[in-house]
Amino acid sequence: MSNRARLIPILAVILIAAFTYFNSEKFTNPETGKTARVALSEDQEAKLGLQSYQQVIAQAQGQLQNSGPEYDRVVRIARRLAQSTGDAGKKFQWAVSVLRSNQVNAFCLPGGKIVVYTGILPVAENDAQLATVMGHEMAHATSRHGSQRLLQTKLTNTVITGAQVSMAGMDYQQQQAVMGAIGAGAQYGVLLPFSRDHEVEADYIGLMYMARAGYDPHEAIKFWQHMSKASGAGQKPPEFASTHPSDQTRIQRLTDAMPKALEEYNKSTFRGQP
Ligand SMILES: [Zn+2]
Repeated sequence: MSNRARLIPILAVILIAAFTYFNSEKFTNPETGKTARVALSEDQEAKLGLQSYQQVIAQAQGQLQNSGPEYDRVVRIARRLAQSTGDAGKKFQWAVSVLRSNQVNAFCLPGGKIVVYTGILPVAENDAQLATVMGHEMAHATSRHGSQRLLQTKLTNTVITGAQVSMAGMDYQQQQAVMGAIGAGAQYGVLLPFSRDHEVEADYIGLMYMARAGYDPHEAIKFWQHMSKASGAGQKPPEFASTHPSDQTRIQRLTDAMPKALEEYNKSTFRGQP
């Protein structure tokens, strides 16, 4: 292939990727005003979220906890948080399940299906700290981070496929250069900062949710410090800590958002409720 012919597949996929991007839905986050492109409609997200939720529940037979103080605690916090999600959570059909497991983890699927593993309960010293984790996970869902990531993966895959076709006939060094620009770029330059952005956004919005739900936002900082200690204890870090490294920047950002969080907290009608 001539050098010029080699570029044709690359140009084609860039066009396809651009087409996909500009035809995707634009989402404006009501909490931050930030806009982002998403791969799925809200209805598709809700459907996908519900399917995954049902799968998780089906696989967790015997682990499901439907009563008792732990269950009551999680449900009570989820209810207060769900009522504090404002416009973003308006269309969500919130539901929460508690699974008996040593996993220190919790997640929220698109459309508002929350799963909390009992392993995270002792790590959260009080309701406000548990509301920190749950609020953070709920913020990922209301901010449609999964759908944003899906679009990005779709675009990345399209471009990589095109690059691989173009690379046939290139020598090793040329291939490395292309993969450096696209593959490694996707791994280190595009995808990672993107999900760090999502973490920052979920931290901020989650903090607002828990404060609005009447939980003292100062506890959020204590929780992340607690997590940071747990992951530095030498043993295998808990699941949640390994996907959520709580470094000084994370704590600093939460400290910066504290005045706004306290404003929300002071306005909360939930404040002081058990
Ligand atoms: Zn997160």
